[in-house]
Amino acid sequence: MLMTNYQTILYYCYSPIADAEQFAADHLAFCKSLNLTGRIIVADEGLNGTVSGTKESCEAYMEAVHADARFAKTEFKIDDVAEPSFIKMHCRYKAEIVHSGLRDPNIINPNKQTGKHLEPTEFQKMIHDDDVVVLDVRSNYEHNLGKFKNAITLDIENFREFPDKIEELEQFKGKKILTYCTGGIKCEKASALLLHHGFENVYQLHGGIIKYGKEAGGEDFEGKCYVFDNRIAVDVNKVNPTVVSKCYNCGTVTPKMINCANPECNEHVTQCDACGEKLLGCCSETCVSNPRRRPYDGTGYYVKVPQQVKVPMK
Ligand SMILES: [Zn+2]
Ligand SMILES: [Zn+2]
Repeated sequence: MLMTNYQTILYYCYSPIADAEQFAADHLAFCKSLNLTGRIIVADEGLNGTVSGTKESCEAYMEAVHADARFAKTEFKIDDVAEPSFIKMHCRYKAEIVHSGLRDPNIINPNKQTGKHLEPTEFQKMIHDDDVVVLDVRSNYEHNLGKFKNAITLDIENFREFPDKIEELEQFKGKKILTYCTGGIKCEKASALLLHHGFENVYQLHGGIIKYGKEAGGEDFEGKCYVFDNRIAVDVNKVNPTVVSKCYNCGTVTPKMINCANPECNEHVTQCDACGEKLLGCCSETCVSNPRRRPYDGTGYYVKVPQQVKVPMK
């Protein structure tokens, strides 16, 4: 029997925070007082986090967030897990809660204008319509592991490259654009930007793939969903599941994703167990020979090692 005494909760909330830097420091102390682990980003525009801990801690945390009028509407996606999904607790102030490079709230402000939210079951029905284009706004390492059937994907390594791809989407201007991402946060900005560029029928999957998995059985999602914690990937589809990702090294179909064991590379790659053993969890022979290579325990997940910034000249 799988013991699930812990929970991992994912959420975001676009809501202005005055003195967000101070808020981040206070919030970190609060999370630590609850013995939570996780990663939270605080910005002037809101909050974005994944935290993990005992059910009691998670409940106390959610209650406290909801008790703050600024975040009363926050939706939490809750997963029961066997162990905490993080080792440490981080809560940091950044310029944006999701890095898009679009910092001017006069142009992109999800609190003012964003794509129409579709609930999972509405999205599920609409994706089969002829006048619909399903757009994955996530990065390569994410959609390579899994995506909606027939979705358009973008060749981007990071969401901040999304604005440069709008031009490629011009051909779909007459159609209904349905955007989706992991938990919904990127879509708030992606759909707002599409509207800003004159796309008229823009929709977004409310709560992202994670909520869709819970409320629509994950139907027509192919492969797994990449997540930003030590689970790396989670199952979504309980209706018609498939594996779509191929081992980066040998091409065998595999659902497994790792971080390269070489901390200077740390690349996200799909890798089968056989190649993982052979390459000691590295993406390439070059990485295997790196002297800082981390021991591979079969999961491909590593606690972040602080990177050396400057290498002294010899
Ligand atoms: Zn392989
Ligand atoms: Zn590597």
